[in-house]
Amino acid sequence: MKFTEFGFDERLMEGIDAAGYEDATPVQEQVIPHILSGKDIIASAQTGTGKTAAFLLPLIHKIITDVEQGNTISALVIVPTRELAIQIAQHLEGFSYFASISSIAIYGGGDGNAFIQEKKAVSMGADIVVCTPGKMMSHIKMGYVKLQGLKYLVLDEADRMLDMGFFDDIMFVIKHLPPKRQNLLFSATMPHKIRELARKILHQPIEVNIAISKPPEKIIQLAYIVYDTQKIPLVTHLLKNSQFNNTLIFCSSKQSVKQLTRDLKRAGFNADEIHSDLEQDKREDVLSQFRSGRLTILIATDILSRGIDIDNIELVINFDVPHDGEDYVHRIGRTARAMADGTAITLVSTAEQRKFSAIEKLLGEPVPKGQVPEALGPVPEYTSTSSANQQGAKRKFFPKNRSQRH
Ligand code: AMP
Repeated sequence: MKFTEFGFDERLMEGIDAAGYEDATPVQEQVIPHILSGKDIIASAQTGTGKTAAFLLPLIHKIITDVEQGNTISALVIVPTRELAIQIAQHLEGFSYFASISSIAIYGGGDGNAFIQEKKAVSMGADIVVCTPGKMMSHIKMGYVKLQGLKYLVLDEADRMLDMGFFDDIMFVIKHLPPKRQNLLFSATMPHKIRELARKILHQPIEVNIAISKPPEKIIQLAYIVYDTQKIPLVTHLLKNSQFNNTLIFCSSKQSVKQLTRDLKRAGFNADEIHSDLEQDKREDVLSQFRSGRLTILIATDILSRGIDIDNIELVINFDVPHDGEDYVHRIGRTARAMADGTAITLVSTAEQRKFSAIEKLLGEPVPKGQVPEALGPVPEYTSTSSANQQGAKRKFFPKNRSQRH
């Protein structure tokens, strides 16, 4: 669906054009018409689906076409973190560049100046306020926040807010809002406590599900929690000690593809690389070698994660944690195609733990953790709440057979 089909105000369309958006994403296509018609929404959509524009665009449209605008806050967008508040405020600024709309982001950690600006905005009324729950609660407690004309409430990443212990703060803020308002709740996951929250604050909501695809069950998944410097030694160890023939390794950057390929070649493996720095001919050549089995280890950037159909990949290694759940599913879906079984291993560095735990959440269960050989030294703790059977996973997936060709 094109953005021109929503009936948005011209001034907003200019902002959408400037952002370079033409076609709506699935979540946008599904929620924008309902928001425009005044319905409450509960949507399960993760970051990366275009959920921010899905609520910002119809809100901006409604606010700029509303003749009754007063000196009050019209829309409150509550988010878990200052980073997200800043990001949403930046999107907002871009979309509303050609429309006259006032907005402010309110989050903790600012200096005295920021506080004075925030106070001014919330007491005079800004059209859209993006805030973290605790900071908004502090302003409300001081009595000057103009909320009597509020019409729209958005809770973004609601599951994360509850995980961070913001339930009471959110409810405090909501108690100070006019009861007649439109409510939009976005959450990556829909655990019971989100349903409870929705029951408390939404009115006959429309439910929208942008479910991520699940990996095929026949893929055996495994993750190793390591320090960054342990990744290359661990990959080498895994390749030496496994029985897999065709292995595809994904890295997030061309640099790590090149480095890993160099190291594996040096260690004697039959490995080669594919990424966007290579000429098309070279890429085709590498791919056809891999398809035919002459090349047994292919190291790639994400250019291979979607769509390319190679039937006989037995092992996929995520050298870096993929960006999100959807990418994870696409990457590991390169193995176990057709009727074959496959194994997918992800190496998780300390800095990637949060990203990986978010992926596990989306998958609905923890990925079993493998045990890193003692020779590689001590490993970090996995601080996510997920737990897994480490020993079992290792024995099951790395039998003694050392028939790896390289
Ligand atoms: P979000 O899920 O809101 O974090 O958005 C993810 C990314 O997709 C952001 O960089 C947006 O700017 C971009 N995006 C959102 N909607 C569209 C669209 N309809 N067309 C192109 N890019 C989009």
